Amino acid sequence: MSTATFIKRSYVVGVRLDLSPNSARPKSAGRPGLAGLTRGALAQALVEGGVAPPDKARMRAGQIWRWMHHHGATDFSAMSNIDKATRTTLAERFELARPEVVARQVSADGARKWLIRFEPGVEAECVYIPDVGRAGALCVSSQVGCTLNCRFCHTGTQALVRNLTAAEIVAQVQIARDDLGEWPSEREDRRLSNIVFMGMGEPLYNLGAVADAIDIISDNEGLAISRRRMTVSTAGVVPQIAPLGARTQAMLAISLHATNDALRDELVPLNKRYPLAELMDAIRGYPGLSNARRVTFEYVMLNGVNDTLAEARALVQMLAGIPAKINLIPFNPWPGAPYECSDWATIEAFAGVVNRAGYASPIRTPRGRDILAACGQLRTESLKVRASARRASGADVA
Ligand code: SAH
Repeated sequence: MSTATFIKRSYVVGVRLDLSPNSARPKSAGRPGLAGLTRGALAQALVEGGVAPPDKARMRAGQIWRWMHHHGATDFSAMSNIDKATRTTLAERFELARPEVVARQVSADGARKWLIRFEPGVEAECVYIPDVGRAGALCVSSQVGCTLNCRFCHTGTQALVRNLTAAEIVAQVQIARDDLGEWPSEREDRRLSNIVFMGMGEPLYNLGAVADAIDIISDNEGLAISRRRMTVSTAGVVPQIAPLGARTQAMLAISLHATNDALRDELVPLNKRYPLAELMDAIRGYPGLSNARRVTFEYVMLNGVNDTLAEARALVQMLAGIPAKINLIPFNPWPGAPYECSDWATIEAFAGVVNRAGYASPIRTPRGRDILAACGQLRTESLKVRASARRASGADVA
């Protein structure tokens, strides 16, 4: 769907939308935040903000970068290798504080979920899942709400409020690291080792900010999570798949869920625009695929909908020749959902077919279900309240 279509549709239903490509957009308080700037943009901001002359800007940017992304500083006063006058100017011109964490929940299984308020009425969730990837994965949101309306997904019942900025995506990682107590970033035993763009929203409808965030998060002098430990999941925005690879070198995940167009049109309406044949072509062309760098295919198990053995065989056939991993995701229920999870025997039989075709460990244990933190359960209230109503009430809506 084009940006123009988004804007038109969103205005018709009265939802506020900001697709501003400027990921360094100043916060409402007025001072621009620094956390979402790439190294080059940070140096430039320092020159423009009168903090450093052009010949010193890179050096200063390097110092600030390290405090921000390696030590997790939220205050310029901590930057002990920067002289006091410069620190004062920095604090006058720029913002380092994190967005507000409005709620924090911990699941019985160790998953943690944070509800983050980026500005009044604009909130998204992010989830830390232990024992995923090398140590544990942070599932980050790329948008508040979503335009895709996948029928089994809770987020899909929430219209799009707006894209998140690079700063807001990076902030999710910083907040997780604050909470896990993992500053400085170089710790060997850190529990946050992987990032998955599988929270709220469609990352390929916000590729600019997602790519900047990946540049920032992967920097070795900063948060230092390698690109190979970052996975971007898409419902299949075909024209953005090659650009994603070229721009980020991140790992690719595809929310597949069906092996024929008729069913996929129903489950993932985006399929009507980019049908399976086109999607599979784009996936085959993803740069850098190999057995060490596989595409992940997500397949949600819906009782009586997509869970027959014939479909398992069709799935395996469809993926022939693609270095692939398959994650079978037991459907996670949410209030009012029109589906049920397949029963365990069916999931195991389905997994058996997939396993015999050579794909390992396919059933993904649901994590954080008790706090609605599992795949597809994320949703915030942000969109229910129109911008006009928020202004009228002056309220922060949780
Ligand atoms: N829009 C992107 C990013 C979201 S990823 C995408 O579609 O890939 C979230 C993953 O959780 C997707 O694979 C989605 O299909 C899956 N999911 C959504 N709702 C779910 C549910 N109720 N139970 C299990 N998985 C679900």
